[in-house]
Amino acid sequence: MSYVDEIKQRVKVQNPSQPEFNQAVEEVLESVRAVVERNEERYRREALLERLTMPERNFTFTIPWVDDNGNVQVNRGYRVQFNGAIGPYKGGLRFHPTVNLSVMKFLSFEQTFKNSLTGLPMGGAKGGSDFDPKGKSDREIMRFCQSFMTELHRYIGADEDVPAGDIGVGAREIGYMFGQYRRIRGAYKGGVLTGKGLSYGGSLARTEATGYGLLYITQEILKCNGHDLAGKTVVVSGAGNVATYAIQKAWELGAKPVTCSDSTGWIYDPEGIDVATLREVKEVRRARLTEYAALRPNAQYHEGKGVWTVKCDVALPCATQNELLIDDAKALVANGCMAVIEGANMPTSLDATKYLQDNGVLFCPGKASNAGGVAVSGLEMSQNSERRSWTFEEVDEMLKGIMIRIFHNLDDAAREYGMEGNYVAGANIAGFLKVADAMMSQGVV
Ligand code: NDP
Repeated sequence: MSYVDEIKQRVKVQNPSQPEFNQAVEEVLESVRAVVERNEERYRREALLERLTMPERNFTFTIPWVDDNGNVQVNRGYRVQFNGAIGPYKGGLRFHPTVNLSVMKFLSFEQTFKNSLTGLPMGGAKGGSDFDPKGKSDREIMRFCQSFMTELHRYIGADEDVPAGDIGVGAREIGYMFGQYRRIRGAYKGGVLTGKGLSYGGSLARTEATGYGLLYITQEILKCNGHDLAGKTVVVSGAGNVATYAIQKAWELGAKPVTCSDSTGWIYDPEGIDVATLREVKEVRRARLTEYAALRPNAQYHEGKGVWTVKCDVALPCATQNELLIDDAKALVANGCMAVIEGANMPTSLDATKYLQDNGVLFCPGKASNAGGVAVSGLEMSQNSERRSWTFEEVDEMLKGIMIRIFHNLDDAAREYGMEGNYVAGANIAGFLKVADAMMSQGVV
């Protein structure tokens, strides 16, 4: 049996109830098969793939907190430090009821290759909790974040592990966690978290980075394939951080974003999504999208899923994992969609990805196309250690450069291994090569 097949099987046996983690491992290992075959003996001798598919460290902890009625609530917390070969562990924190060990492991595994692709020295990690922020008061959110950090502080540090935001964790939550860290340590250590507020060490353009970066890489992919993003109709899922700034940048680059969604329904706005209204509904009121429709009489609100049925040129899934399935891929192809560029992590299932690729749709995986967020987090770390701040324009320019470089690196890697145009393979290969080289150089650790 080939080394890749052996490891795929081993991961399945060792992690039988972790479907998301198995899905992510399957995708990466299939993509790097050609690389592994070229180095099979060496990699096997060093047990490279065994080590690469197992988290280096894995923390699970209890988070007790007191709700507004004085009742004690308990949630489960996680921090998975997957691979630290190329730099301090780095990856976001997710607060969502669907968080479990499988989700944490898939995200931190993916993060390892994403961080490698940015060209910055960052290892892969992820963390979070099954805590549901929906419907909680501000004080409850604060008490939960404080309790979470009271445990998490043991495992993190500017040179050890630097968490950031993700689903359910934005500027407010990062602020509360940073405050608690500062209190526990009795010191201001800005480099311990990224996504911080601007008044206490955050980077300009971090909030916008993932969405903006997604559009920069989309523009470059279209350009290199003979298309212009300007004038294109774009469908977007999600209505959070990534989706909002993807929509804003799509407008700025001359495209027309016509949809957004949340976990209960979706909007089709024939005039294009109005960013100010979306931000008012989601960032200020923290309300459902029905309120967007109430403020924009021509917009249509639909319950459930449906953005992928809207005719478009470009689709940007920006909500969550496995939100674009085989039937959605078929609808996109039937409607003439030319590109699917992932803003979320693993939003497209494996069979849907294959269908899109087989039907000539340009497809870029999230680990490349949403790397703008962690790239600017890396820039925030640099600014913190130099105790300086770059302007919005400086950070935005660096972000754009990084996204364009990421695309060309993965495009070159795909060509080198005879898989021209297969950006999934290219991203996995380019990310893998650097991590593998670092691991081989550092011996058996
Ligand atoms: P937010 O919490 O800001 O927004 C998430 C959006 O997705 C919300 O509109 C939410 O709806 C919707 N959503 C979440 N879970 C589900 C679900 N199970 N079904 C349907 N809709 C859902 O998160 P972000 O925008 O930060 O993250 C979105 C994706 O991008 C995630 O996959 C994340 O890992 C990835 N990502 C984020 C980065 C960042 O910098 N923030 C960086 C790189 C990747 P509702 O409001 O109803 O919950």
